[in-house]
Amino acid sequence: MSAGGVYCGYCGRARDEGDHGACARRLGVVDPPRFCAACARRMVVQVTPGGWTASCGRHGESRSA
Ligand SMILES: [Zn+2]
Ligand SMILES: [Zn+2]
Repeated sequence: MSAGGVYCGYCGRARDEGDHGACARRLGVVDPPRFCAACARRMVVQVTPGGWTASCGRHGESRSA
């Protein structure tokens, strides 16, 4: 999980709105985030052999550890 984000990376809604337990589980297993945690823009996601990269037009690229 990306720390400090305001939005859920999986569903794009505010973290304090509703229950994101299922989202966190999905993200914790294999799924790349679909939305930027800082601005909730939809990110461009690419799955790579080693994991994934997801890039936000404003906040740049993040990648799986
Ligand atoms: Zn969520
Ligand atoms: Zn962003």
